[in-house]
Amino acid sequence: MKNIAILGSTGSIGRNALEVIENLSHKYNVTGLAAGRNLDLFQVQIQRFHPEIVSLETEAHADAIRKRIGRNDVRVVFGQEGAEEVASYGKNDIVVSSIAGINGLRPTLAAVRSGKRVALANKESMVVAGPLIQKMAAESGAEIIPVDSEHSGVFQCLAKEDRAGVKKVILTASGGPFFKTPADELKNKTVAEALNHPRWSMGEKVTVDSATLMNKGLELIEARWLFGLDPEKLGILIHPQSIVHSLIEMQDGSVLAQLSPTDMKIPIQYALTYPEREKGLLPPLDLSQTGALEFYDVDHEKFPLVGLARQALVRNDSFSIALNAANEVVVAAFLEEKIKFSDIPAVVAKVIEDHDAREVATISEIFAIDRDSRARTRKLLEQR
Ligand code: MG
Repeated sequence: MKNIAILGSTGSIGRNALEVIENLSHKYNVTGLAAGRNLDLFQVQIQRFHPEIVSLETEAHADAIRKRIGRNDVRVVFGQEGAEEVASYGKNDIVVSSIAGINGLRPTLAAVRSGKRVALANKESMVVAGPLIQKMAAESGAEIIPVDSEHSGVFQCLAKEDRAGVKKVILTASGGPFFKTPADELKNKTVAEALNHPRWSMGEKVTVDSATLMNKGLELIEARWLFGLDPEKLGILIHPQSIVHSLIEMQDGSVLAQLSPTDMKIPIQYALTYPEREKGLLPPLDLSQTGALEFYDVDHEKFPLVGLARQALVRNDSFSIALNAANEVVVAAFLEEKIKFSDIPAVVAKVIEDHDAREVATISEIFAIDRDSRARTRKLLEQR
């Protein structure tokens, strides 16, 4: 039996992870769960999976769940420290890190520090702290396995390959809901339209990031640190069918690809079972029924955030922290219908333009730059 803690258990990745675990209950046991404020679902999860430790966002939510479950054999904690305690709980063998955004960074670091397997779905932590996380993992012996579908694809293709043989790694992007929308019609796209993703069912933040293609930009940076790849070896192809998740061009001209149904349960399960394979929950991929698989280049004028992310990828400084912070704030403002869709890249670009980039050596510096960039983004939004 392997013990698993899930950070972000009521989110999209967390819910899928619990389905995978339930299907493989002969191998996996849930030791800890951390969530935000969704008490109803959290209560169901606790009663079904019997974790030993759980965490919620606030003390009031923790008190409420204590009353609801009415048992004293579950340790209930709260806040960032609570999520960190779940992440570093001694009995864990695997930590699924799926709290979205910068809020996932401290719990991810706690999991990495504890030296266990980290099934990493929180891409923002690699974007803002990639080199530090890799250093910490080397020291603690933590094994970081990507959950992001494209990175899982790369990880699977490279499992038996010598990295020296890799010429180029290409992440595919579905293109999001606006792939075919003319550029001049983007500005009036609504929240509902942005959240109507043609292929993937995901959380709101990542779905809006898919509509702006920022998601792919963040994933380039994530791939750089996950796999230790030079920026020029990383590329993107639009692939609307989202069947091929990544492509690896080898030095000899061979191209390896990973294909699977468009469902996060596949990469989540692989991050748990690696290097083994277990029977999955989905019907097999039937390529005779999928139709044509198409591939296109990115339209950088229409999706300018990809270019900004590429700049962050090439530099190795605070630029990516400011980029991520600005993006999180503007996406939240868009979801609250305070700004237009086309304001997202415009405001992010302005924050980045004014950012005084510098070298980053510590986690506290990362948080300071993150806070400062968020404040500047909010100010820009207020001035509009
Ligand atoms: Mg992805």
